[in-house]
Amino acid sequence: MLIVMDKKAKQAEIDTVVAAIKQKGYTARPIPGGERVSIGILNNKGHVDGGPFLSLPGVKDAIPVTRPYKLVSREFKPEDTIIKIDDISIGKGSLTIIAGPCAIESELQALTIAEHVRSSGAQLFRGGAFKPRTSPYSFQGLGEEGLKILSKVREKTGMPVVTEVMDYETFDLVEEYTDVIQIGTRNMQNFSLLRRAGRASKPVLLKRGMAATIDEWLMAAEYILEVGNSQVILCERGVRTFAHHSRNTLDLSAVPVVLKESHLPIIIDPSHAAGRRDQVIPLSRASVAVGAHGLMVEVHHAPEEALSDGAQSLYPDQFKKMCRQVRWIYDDLNRHNSLG
Ligand code: PEP
Ligand code: MN
Repeated sequence: MLIVMDKKAKQAEIDTVVAAIKQKGYTARPIPGGERVSIGILNNKGHVDGGPFLSLPGVKDAIPVTRPYKLVSREFKPEDTIIKIDDISIGKGSLTIIAGPCAIESELQALTIAEHVRSSGAQLFRGGAFKPRTSPYSFQGLGEEGLKILSKVREKTGMPVVTEVMDYETFDLVEEYTDVIQIGTRNMQNFSLLRRAGRASKPVLLKRGMAATIDEWLMAAEYILEVGNSQVILCERGVRTFAHHSRNTLDLSAVPVVLKESHLPIIIDPSHAAGRRDQVIPLSRASVAVGAHGLMVEVHHAPEEALSDGAQSLYPDQFKKMCRQVRWIYDDLNRHNSLG
């Protein structure tokens, strides 16, 4: 249930409603909005009777919430969440491009790629230091050394960095070094990791599980918000299907569904969806056209020598072309105000 306060409600009236909710054994979560405050009721086991709240001063409405997720839903918070990292905004009104190699391999490799992607228009740099690899014999990432290289990239280029946290044990370390904490497809339902991310002071980029429904994905985000971190960016990266013309199947339809259901920003990773370079630029164009708030793309200056995901990594000049094309599409759609 969502208690909607009157536009002119005083703080004391809001506090009274919060106290009344707590008194019934529920959790109260005030959600400040542009015009008015709403208060979400959480931790109710069944139906909540709105009657007693409606009679309190300053209360305008009591709306039952029909979705299984609450804090991530538009029912709870109609305004879009915009995430700010330095002077970069992620969410409605911006197209944010994150780019870099799959894995940090060396300082020279990271700085070389970072310079390329920055000059083409990427705003954030990505690169894995702890890599979730299907085979234990594949390159597992440089670990803390990789995180230190990411710091150097930030220092030299001014770009904030995004890197994946793979487990609870290394969470503190990753959180200390990165600007955005990535939770990968394989960990989307690692609930202790999600709860830890809820206590983090940095934004979380939550990838969709490769076999997760949109409801399951939003529920995973709910874990993070429920603990207290509302800075979540959703990232669609393709789901497993019977198709083998690509590594995964990019679910473009996730974008309009998420935009309708949730206030959180949604970006697309066409690289892990495609698994092959020749599909990445067309899928990036489609992602922007369908309304995604950004892209996360793998780029390598020498993909043949990459220690992971070389086949799907764009060459720097391809990335440059992609940036130009997606900006055209984005600007054109906005010029015609077609995104509403
Ligand atoms: C990645 O972005 O480096 C990655 C491993 O992605 P995913 O979790 O989507 O496979
Ligand atoms: Mn990769």
